[in-house]
Formats: sequence, structure tokens, C-alpha cells
Amino acid sequence: MAPGPGDGTAMLRVTELRLPLDHDAGALRDAVAARLGIGADALLDHAVARRGYDARSRGRISLVYSVDVRVADAAATLRRCADDPHVGPVPDLAYRPPAPAPHVSAPRPVVIGAGPCGLLAALTLAEAGYRPIIIERGQPVRIRTRDTWAFWRRGVFDPASNVQYGEGGAGTFSDGKLYSGIKDPANRARRVLEAFVASGAPAEILVVSKPHIGTFRLVTIVESMRARITALGGEYRFGTQVTGIDLATLPDGRRALRALALSDGSVLPASHAVLAVGHSARDTFAMLHAAGVPMQAKPFSIGLRIEHPQTLIDRARFADAAGDPRLGAADYKLVQHGAHGRSVYSFCMCPGGTVVAATSERGRVVTNGMSQYSRAERNANAGIVVGITPADYPGGPLAGIDFQRRWEDAAFVAGGGTYAAPVQRVEDFLAARPSTALGAVIPSYRPGVRPTDLAACLPEFATAAIRAALPAFGRKLAGFDLADAVLTGVETRTSSPVSIARGHDGQCPEVRGLYPAGEGAGYAGGILSAGVDGIKAAEWVARAMQADAAVV
Ligand code: FAD
Repeated sequence: MAPGPGDGTAMLRVTELRLPLDHDAGALRDAVAARLGIGADALLDHAVARRGYDARSRGRISLVYSVDVRVADAAATLRRCADDPHVGPVPDLAYRPPAPAPHVSAPRPVVIGAGPCGLLAALTLAEAGYRPIIIERGQPVRIRTRDTWAFWRRGVFDPASNVQYGEGGAGTFSDGKLYSGIKDPANRARRVLEAFVASGAPAEILVVSKPHIGTFRLVTIVESMRARITALGGEYRFGTQVTGIDLATLPDGRRALRALALSDGSVLPASHAVLAVGHSARDTFAMLHAAGVPMQAKPFSIGLRIEHPQTLIDRARFADAAGDPRLGAADYKLVQHGAHGRSVYSFCMCPGGTVVAATSERGRVVTNGMSQYSRAERNANAGIVVGITPADYPGGPLAGIDFQRRWEDAAFVAGGGTYAAPVQRVEDFLAARPSTALGAVIPSYRPGVRPTDLAACLPEFATAAIRAALPAFGRKLAGFDLADAVLTGVETRTSSPVSIARGHDGQCPEVRGLYPAGEGAGYAGGILSAGVDGIKAAEWVARAMQADAAVV
């Protein structure tokens, strides 16, 4: 029996247990007993709480475990291990949901956007009885999948239903990496993972240190989340865009949300709305800016996507252990601080995946990456991007969007104006000459590629910074600057080009009742952190609705 709370026995967590990659089945139990200084008979039970690997030394890759254990005398064991920072009580991982909805008639809370931020906000509100209304400009995930694949296969682009817009949000066609560096003492990150597992994700995402679920599973997870939200009284409106906000002026002069204008011509009364529109809601940012919602231009990154054979990356990271199923396809994370303070880094690395066409606007080319759970495609890909700041695109809060568009337009033209992406061999890119043909690495981008000169698709400083970084990356990861590795342009949607202010109560200080959240407002970067921010937004909405009810 696995240790579990409430069974009357004290549980301990032992962390940083390192074992060789090929350790046998009993080695973990022996290592736990040895660490705790107890005999094997005093170790009543153990279960792996976290599993990762350390490949920093390529010749000696180790598996690293955290293990929850039940022992015969926990108090004595803890006393004996008092000086060991890797032995302690099992941490409390419980998430405490918001207080249940008050029984007062009020406009239902609205969630704008059904990406990970909006979905977790809606789920949290629905489970506490608030019956949210979810407004999503794109389509339900199955229809959206069909539309997106039509673009990738045949170049038929739908500006209303694509990689960026639709149920599941921007990360639906992705590698489904579910990790982030955020620390959240309220256990919201754990809560996001548990919600994914309850919706069909494999339970191992609660254990492995770098969980990923791949794109196909995300589709079913998102659908099953919808089933739960609607069963709890939530309501979805797909193909419906929020196109305006109606504000009331309060007696103290501040403004408050009163209603939302929708693209079907209707007006939805709303006094609490989570704004979870993602980083590609360019028209929505413009609408909010025009309506007086304060926002600022924010730093983001631009660059190219690089593809190598996955076997090259596996070999560079794992040496003789390359291909070992316990390690899976290797990932990497690279950063190079270059001249003039420009950092170049790898972004959204997808082992064994494909480069995807990720535009949300006609006549533009944007790259990103995705993979299946198996990560079994021939190439590894990652964005190689350069950090930029509003000093690079002066001109007001929306100037970063214009800057993105300029390079996405250039990529469309360089690709031949058919949604094919411009590509270049690394050797040619470094030598500043156009590619006229490709070599051993076959690009995965669809609907097609066109060999050319990528310098036309990026500002000069970004091209120079990436040219300087690639050989440096090659010294860190053997073969990274492989002559035939393929660069595809352009990677512009790395994070939001704007940020929207919010106060300690999660609301926009100038517009009561509007809760900017997730990646689009500048509070998240990735699926997991967007989900966490959605939960936070739901908690703020619930608290405010409780307070409203108390004064009615
Ligand atoms: P989004 O997911 O962008 O969702 C916003 C939603 O709002 C969209 O569905 C949009 O249609 C809707 N919307 C916008 N405007 C309106 C409006 N006016 N009215 C109604 N609805 C509106 N992150 C990871 O952590 N791991 C990965 O492996 C990963 N891979 C990625 C691969 C790709 C191809 C892409 C594009 C992104 C990837 N990301 C990944 C990033 C991740 O998807 C985002 O960080 C995350 O989706 C942000 O969540 P969000 O809910 O804040 O916004």
C-alpha cells in the first residue's frame, strides 16, 4: 500500500536520492533505508514523489528521486536525521479552493479566453459554484484541430480558428511541457497538474520533474475539462469575440466594468471578467487601449527556430546512454550573453517534434514548435531568440505588436507569399549567404519551406546576435552549429508584447471588475504558469463576489 494522508502513520520525504541509470528494482528501497539509517524491516512503505535525471556529467547520468516513506518510528527517524536537509515531513500539497458562491443574484462571472489561464479560472470558479460564462473567439478544440491541420496540410488559413485562437489556447498544438520555475506556496501549480490528470493526463506528470503530455492528449484533456465545467453549470460561447467593454463611472470617479460587447452583436452584462486573451489578441489589446485600459509595451524576444536530428541532441547530451528509454528524447536549454547586452537563448525546446506554422493573421509567417507524447519525430527543434526591449520599438504601448508584424510580414514575403516559411542552413546563415538548397536535415515545417536568406526577416542586431551565439552553443552542445542544421523564420510570439496593470486584488486599478491574467496581460509564460494565474484570478473574482454579496 502506498503511504497516504490520514492513515495514522507519519510520512517522511527523502529527497536527492541519486542512483545510476541502470539501477535494479530494489536499489531505491535500499538507498532510502541507508539514508535514514534504518534497517529494511523498519521501512514500511515507500512511493516515488518525484523523478528526474542529472545529465550534467554525460558519462555518469544519474536518476534523482524524492521518495515518500512510512517508517516504524517517524519521530525518532526525524530526530536522527535532523542535520540532513534532504529528510523531512511530507510537505502539504493540498490546494484550498475559494469559498463557495454566495446565494445572491448577480451577473455571472465571465472568463474571456479558453486557454490554460481561462480554463483553470473557469474550472476553479465552476467547482466553487460560480457558474462562469466562457467567451472564446475560436472554435471547440476538435473543429479547431481540423482547421489548423487544413492550414498546415494545404495552406488554407482561417484567421478565426488557428494555432493561437480556439479552445485550449495557444498551447494546444504544442509539446505540452508542464513545468515552470514559479514558486507557489498555495500549491496552485500542483492543482493545475491534478486538474490535467483528472481530465485524462497520465498520472506520471505528478511525479516526473519535467512533465510533458504532447498535443493529442491536450485535445482530449481540454474537452474533458469542458465537460466538467458545463456539468457544474458553466457555459461556453465559441466563435464569439469580446469586441468592446462598457464601463460605468462610480460615485468616487473610478470606472467599473458593466458589460461586454460581443462579436455576435449582443451585450453581456458583466461585473467581474477574467481577461485571459493570450499574447496574440492584438485586436483586443487595441480595443482595450482605445477604451482607456492602461497598458505598457513590454520586453519579449524574437528570432528563429532551429532543427537538428534528434539523435545528434541525444548523443550530445547523453553520450553512450543516448536512446535509453528511461531518459527519452533529450532536451536542452542554452543561453549566451552577447555583446551590447543582448542575450540569445533557446526557447520552447521540443524534443522529437515538428516546427509549426503559428500565425493568427493573414499574410504573416510565425514559427513555434510541438510534439507528440512519444517525442518520436526525427528532429529536435527550439526557438533561438534574442531578448528585446521597448527601446527597440519605441512608439507607445502597442508598438511591440507593430514590430512583430513587420518581421512576420517579411518572413511571409521571404517564404514566397504562400505561407511557406523561409529557411536557411546554419552554415549559410553564419556565412551571410542565402541558402539555395537544403542538406541532410529535412525541415518539418508545413505547408512548406523556401531556402533563402533569413537576414531579411530579422533586425540586423538580432541576426548578428544569433550568428555570434550559434558557434558558442556548438561549444556547449557538440554539433549544435551543424552546417546542415536548419533555421526557420520567424519566431515572434515568445511572450506578450504588452503588460496590463493589476492591483493586489487582481483587478485593473482603473477598471474595477476587469481581471487581467495569464500570458497576454504579462503574468505568465507557458501552460503551467498561465493555469496558475487563472486559478489566482478565479480566487480574486470569488473574493470580490463574496464581498459584493456581503453588502447587498
Ligand atoms: P492563450 O493560451 O493564448 O489563450 C487565450 C485565448 O483567448 C485563446 O484561445 C484566444 O482565442 C482567446 N481570445 C483572445 N482574444 C479574445 C477575445 N477578444 N474574445 C474571446 N476570446 C479571445 N507553453 C508551455 O508551457 N509548454 C509548451 O510545450 C508550449 N508549447 C507551445 C507551442 C505552441 C505552438 C504555442 C503557440 C505556444 C506554446 N506554449 C507552450 C505557450 C503556451 O501555449 C502559452 O504560454 C499559454 O497558452 C498561455 O495561456 P493563456 O491562457 O494565457 O493564453
